[in-house]
Amino acid sequence: MGKTKNVPRIRPRALPVVLFKGKQYFADLRLNEFRPVQGFESIPFNSKEGLSMCSSTGIITCKSCGMSVLISMAYEREPLRCIRCFNLLKPLHSD
Ligand SMILES: [Zn+2]
Repeated sequence: MGKTKNVPRIRPRALPVVLFKGKQYFADLRLNEFRPVQGFESIPFNSKEGLSMCSSTGIITCKSCGMSVLISMAYEREPLRCIRCFNLLKPLHSD
């Protein structure tokens, strides 16, 4: 029915979508990158833009093992640990 133009073969279904500056992005916590819902460029979490997107959307990357998690704002002040290596993740905002 619709026009599908260069849609990736496997459409990510379980990826969380975050909103940054009015644009929706998939937050790919496996590949550690943002991808626009409509578009193809990817923004690595550890790039300059990616880092600012991570902090404003609640994504923390473990400095020890590199695993990324999406943190609910309800927990942003809690001391969280990486679910893979148990390294202490820095809270988003520290008092
Ligand atoms: Zn870790």
